[in-house]
Amino acid sequence: MSDSSAGFVLTDALDAEIGHAARLLRAARHTVALTGAGLSVESGIPPFRGPGGLWTKYGEPPLDGYQRFLRDPREHWESRLRPVEGWAKGLRETLDRAKPNAGHYALAELEREGRLASLITQNIDDLHGQAGTRSLLEIHGNARLVRCIECVARYTRDQVQIDPENLPPHCERCGGILKEDTVSFGEPIPPDVLRGCYATCERADCMLVVGTSATVYPAAEFPYDVLRRGGAIIEVNPHESELTLALERATAHGATTLSLRGPAGAVLQRLLHHVRSTSGPETSA
Ligand code: NAD
Repeated sequence: MSDSSAGFVLTDALDAEIGHAARLLRAARHTVALTGAGLSVESGIPPFRGPGGLWTKYGEPPLDGYQRFLRDPREHWESRLRPVEGWAKGLRETLDRAKPNAGHYALAELEREGRLASLITQNIDDLHGQAGTRSLLEIHGNARLVRCIECVARYTRDQVQIDPENLPPHCERCGGILKEDTVSFGEPIPPDVLRGCYATCERADCMLVVGTSATVYPAAEFPYDVLRRGGAIIEVNPHESELTLALERATAHGATTLSLRGPAGAVLQRLLHHVRSTSGPETSA
């Protein structure tokens, strides 16, 4: 796995940009964070794609995962109870070990201090919740939960009795079939989470986009929605992404955008420092 934080040096130029980002956050009325796999790289969780990615190493999982589940939920659960191999094994082991990093904690602090209204994550690793973020929308689900495919009730694994003789397990609220909460290929985003995402993005006048290539829909469209409504975008990513190029084009047409080139942990901690110490216009979320 490539550790994008190794050897990172905070230059004066980047620090000045982070200061600018802090002023944008202080002036914003409703800031939403959108995070992706890059944020958890510093927690030891590899991304799926790119160098060191799980799919690069083990190959992509089937793209019709949800249709397979619907065709035979019993077989799906039986296969989940068997020892896993390949990328799923690699992911399960790293998820079990992972702890939130400085970036997760900085985002939780920004929320606590009224600078972040909500956080949409594409990550399934539960690390934002563990770091203390409260207004959290896990758009691809949470690997520690199971969800009813009918009424979307969610349960921790401990709350569900899994009887290998009587699979699949059913929802105690409505009797619907339970599935892991993580969203499979081909599965619609759970409607409660999607509604929450649209509602908060509609109000956003600033978005902090951290550690995502912003290529997986529908999350990828949220920064563009905010831009179209005249909001500011602050990207945190050590590498140029597709979004970076779109932000450059938008800036040329008068939009307010910043691309902070550095690893999420160091950049977000510095951002928190500047938000606390910067003076200037102020509006709490
Ligand atoms: P992605 O793998 O497509 O992109 C990751 C981005 O993070 C890249 O642009 C990369 O340059 C950047 N990055 C790498 N190191 C970073 C660092 N230290 N700080 C900040 N940015 C860094 O990820 P994605 O856009 O989230 O899309 C992948 C999909 O895979 C998502 O849907 C997500 O659900 C899933 N996924 C989740 C996890 C997890 O839960 N931790 C892990 C792997 C994949």
